[in-house]
Amino acid sequence: MRQPYVAGNWKMYKTVAEAVSLATELADGLKHSRNKLMVAPPFTALSAVGAALTGSGILLGAQNMAAELEGAHTGEISVRMLKDLGVRVVIIGHSERRHVYHESDELINQKVRLALTEGMEVILCVGETLDEREAGEVERVVGTQLQAGLSGVELGSLEQVTIAYEPVWAIGTGKTATPADADAVHQYIRRWFSETYGSDTALSMIVQYGGSVKPGNIAALMNMENIDGALVGGASLKAETFLPISRFND
Ligand code: PEP
Repeated sequence: MRQPYVAGNWKMYKTVAEAVSLATELADGLKHSRNKLMVAPPFTALSAVGAALTGSGILLGAQNMAAELEGAHTGEISVRMLKDLGVRVVIIGHSERRHVYHESDELINQKVRLALTEGMEVILCVGETLDEREAGEVERVVGTQLQAGLSGVELGSLEQVTIAYEPVWAIGTGKTATPADADAVHQYIRRWFSETYGSDTALSMIVQYGGSVKPGNIAALMNMENIDGALVGGASLKAETFLPISRFND
């Protein structure tokens, strides 16, 4: 059985005090959860949020990391610095990194391999733009992102990997893919894993959906056979929305 996995990406929101306040509410409200849970605050709040989450079972995540271990890389954060703060999971290849900061599949792959070698869990984000969807290219785009993002990743490391399918046109727009549309892409992702790594791996991979997930649509999404969780942006910024999403199966 695949354990449901709900993760919150706080993006570039929240001061340290605001982040701690939210983390404290979540730690309190999700103590008894049977789901896997993670929150990714901004770098500046990692340490304080990590302390607020102690004992809660909610994993501390980061939103990005450098592709190199150390060196002259002004403004970058190394995976070892993240581990030092208790970070267990890193989001790699988010559409904002791909499309706004022009991260290539090659750079994303370098980050994925470095994170895995360093013992970090990875959420690898994939997803098509609206133009690509309208051109009937969803599977080609998602397949290429998987192939390139996981190039050189051994079967044994896949336990550390979660895939987040996030159609770019659904992120922060209020437009959610219908559960059936999302499930069709999740099914394709599972087929890709089956062809690349074998059917046992395909069945065990956790594939999250992301794109305007809210308390009102999480249950229908999670009802689909191939959707195992959610990567949540906007609705992860308030306890009143992230708590019901995280507790969708209570
Ligand atoms: C995200 O940023 O990963 C995301 C899915 O955002 P939102 O939930 O706001 O669409």
